[in-house]
Amino acid sequence: SGTLTVGELAKKLHKEPSEIIKKLLFLGVMATINQELDKDSIELIAGDYGVEVEEEIIIDETNFEEFVEEENEAELQERPPVVTIMGHVDHGKTTLLDSIRNTKVTAGEAGGITQHIGAYQVETAGKRITFLDTPGHAAFTTMRARGAQVTDITILVVAADDGVMPQTKEAISHAKAAGVPIIVAVNKMDKEAANPDRVMQELTEFELVPEAWGGDTIFVPVSALQGEGIDELLEMILLVAEVEEYKANPNSLARGTVIEAQLDKGRGPVATLLVQSGTLKVGDPIVVGNAFGRVRAMTNDLGRRVKSVGPAAPVEITGLNDVPHAGDQFKVFEDEKTARQIGETRMIRQRDEERNETSKVSLDDLFNQI
Ligand code: GDP
Ligand code: MG
Repeated sequence: SGTLTVGELAKKLHKEPSEIIKKLLFLGVMATINQELDKDSIELIAGDYGVEVEEEIIIDETNFEEFVEEENEAELQERPPVVTIMGHVDHGKTTLLDSIRNTKVTAGEAGGITQHIGAYQVETAGKRITFLDTPGHAAFTTMRARGAQVTDITILVVAADDGVMPQTKEAISHAKAAGVPIIVAVNKMDKEAANPDRVMQELTEFELVPEAWGGDTIFVPVSALQGEGIDELLEMILLVAEVEEYKANPNSLARGTVIEAQLDKGRGPVATLLVQSGTLKVGDPIVVGNAFGRVRAMTNDLGRRVKSVGPAAPVEITGLNDVPHAGDQFKVFEDEKTARQIGETRMIRQRDEERNETSKVSLDDLFNQI
């Protein structure tokens, strides 16, 4: 249950660490770049820059490491890649996500009404791709703060008429920190002021160099608005997936991560889960973060009821006793008794930790924009 170091805070505020250290000095605090700051200092410094600090209780152990059996290589099968879209505000993330969904999701699924459940799957060239449409930053920060890594590939959207902007840089550093491959979508190519060369030039500073210039970063010119270049972008995603060989065992009890969750008036706690291993079925006894229950109903991204889903599929479930958090891990257990025991232990632990104020300050949500 750490807080933030001077260096981490500086990064979040887009300031030089030396500037933060100076400010601290004015407050009478001698600090080094790796020093952990207490909550009050973080709030003071952030406040000085007009940034409000949101506090978030983080339970450290929402993973199920102790229950995860070793994967048997022989049982691993190819699974779809999970993709997040990041980039500066107004560079076209939402438009691109909509464009991909509209061109691909309904093909062969006539009559399906797309539901916004925080993620969706498309099929192209006989292969599936999962897109998270939660804010790209949340996927990286809130989720990673909880120890979850859900993204395989990042699409970095950069408007060709605007170039590299602050949130572009932030997205690059998130993706790099997570070790996730980046594909650059140079968007708004339909605009007269589009200057893709400038975008490529600017990105070389971040070691994102196109193949034509001797690098190994894939750049795809697109117009999200006009649906141009979408097929090429999807092709490139599949190409990266082929190289990276994403695999999972579909024949095991499901586990994965919460994409989003809320309390529904009629249905109770509703959570969108990303299955990362195994197959999730209706009726499965499940622990989700500190909540538990039995999967009552599952709905896919087309609003269809489904009975089971495999690796990399997003699905909305009901049947939990409480609302989990985005980034929480989930795991299915053999029997309901075990799930209940583990769920209850976790709930008690959570209450204890909250009482002990094991809280962690997080600035991440401030930057959640898509
Ligand atoms: P976001 O903030 O990154 O999600 O950006 P949006 O998807 O909301 O797009 C911001 C604005 O740019 C909207 O007015 C879009 O219609 C426009 N836009 C997005 N993509 C394109 C594109 O390819 N061409 C043009 N001309 N406009 C675009
Ligand atoms: Mg948006």
